[in-house]
Amino acid sequence: MIIGIDDTDSRDGMCTTYLCAVLLDELEEYGTITSLPLLMRLNPTIPYKTRGNASVAINIDTDQPQKVMDHAISRIESLAEMASETTNPGVVFVPDKDHERTRHALGEFFNRAVTDVLSIDGAKELARDLDIPHKSFKNGRGLIGALAACGAMLNCDWDHTYEYIAYREQNVWGTLRSVDKTSIHKADMETYPATWDTVDCANDLIVCVPHSPDPVLFGIRGKSVEDVTHAAGFIESEPIERSVVYRTNQGTDMHLIHATGISNIKEMHSYIIEGTVSRAPETIQGGHVILSMRDSKGDEIDCAAYEPTKNFRALVRKLIEGDEIVVYGSVGGNTLNIEKIQIRSLAAKSETQNPVCPSCKKRMKSAGVGQGYRCKKCKTKADSAVSIEVERDLEIGLYEVPPSARRHLAKPLVRMGVQDFELFPSR
Ligand code: ATP
Repeated sequence: MIIGIDDTDSRDGMCTTYLCAVLLDELEEYGTITSLPLLMRLNPTIPYKTRGNASVAINIDTDQPQKVMDHAISRIESLAEMASETTNPGVVFVPDKDHERTRHALGEFFNRAVTDVLSIDGAKELARDLDIPHKSFKNGRGLIGALAACGAMLNCDWDHTYEYIAYREQNVWGTLRSVDKTSIHKADMETYPATWDTVDCANDLIVCVPHSPDPVLFGIRGKSVEDVTHAAGFIESEPIERSVVYRTNQGTDMHLIHATGISNIKEMHSYIIEGTVSRAPETIQGGHVILSMRDSKGDEIDCAAYEPTKNFRALVRKLIEGDEIVVYGSVGGNTLNIEKIQIRSLAAKSETQNPVCPSCKKRMKSAGVGQGYRCKKCKTKADSAVSIEVERDLEIGLYEVPPSARRHLAKPLVRMGVQDFELFPSR
């Protein structure tokens, strides 16, 4: 049986992955967990999300399905933040039958849940149509993520990474986390690039320890179970209640759609779009940097490097009109939120300077408003300033926001076979 769960937490506490971790231990009584649990990130633009739009799936081999379902439901009832208005849990139990139609339909649903916006009614209809036992609480929105996670479990051929999550003991939830910073840096130094997003070196930030009042103590992301477990072993901290390694679509860019043109893009969707800078970057109130990009059909969109992207903004500010770029990111409020940017070609940049005296080769001085330029010493004159091409302080290449600003789904350059880390501002 595959169990999919979503929407059990609120900003005040809990985390759906913690519920998953508890069930992984407790369900051993009724069967055998047959594969790593899944931590699936769905459409990152969904406004109902608490934090990272995550859902989970557990694969269990059991001959007591009713007991498994009853136990999972009772744990959701006891642990979910039911009182929160935005918590609408959903759980589904996909039976262990070789149902090609179910596998196919849920696989498609999963792909759409990552890239598109789905409805609660659509999820309920699909569960009914496929005869999948399920239970929803309140408005049942969690059914969307729960079904999607099962779709991911049934179709495991997607690009994937791993995350080791350590959970806090319940008596300290909501208090300041105690994790030794030096040990975190050591974990990173010893295991990067097989692990990533543990720290943000450029901005001197610890990324793997959350600040919200949920049960997570830290999370280590990486390319294999061994790598994330090895890295976690370096971390010195308060007591850990339990830990789990998840298989996940984090760091895969699964949310991005190749856009055929700016006119086709939609709000709450994420894209890879090619174009040319049509309005140079401008820093607006709050420190956000905005530029406009035009595609080959002449359509335009604003692209933003928001304040949390920190040092990435300095790179974006160097772009000028005419630079050819490819941007990766989500669309909201008619603006594309840049996650990565490829600079394909640089436009010529020119500067006006005073003309050079043909005799002494020094720069002439202005002779007064509207009177051109002259060299006092040689008595030479020129009518106007000269325009000269200046070198661009920018290299073509692919750049990313720093780890502290990275979306869970965004694929880090370290996973893209990019060798020259010198080029990239995140480390
Ligand atoms: P956490 O990361 O702490 O587990 P969260 O950020 O995952 O929390 P949820 O509380 O799970 O947030 O809320 C997200 C809600 O959005 C869920 O009910 C989920 O079913 C729903 N949802 C997920 N993907 C989509 C989608 N593509 N379209 C519509 N609703 C979605």
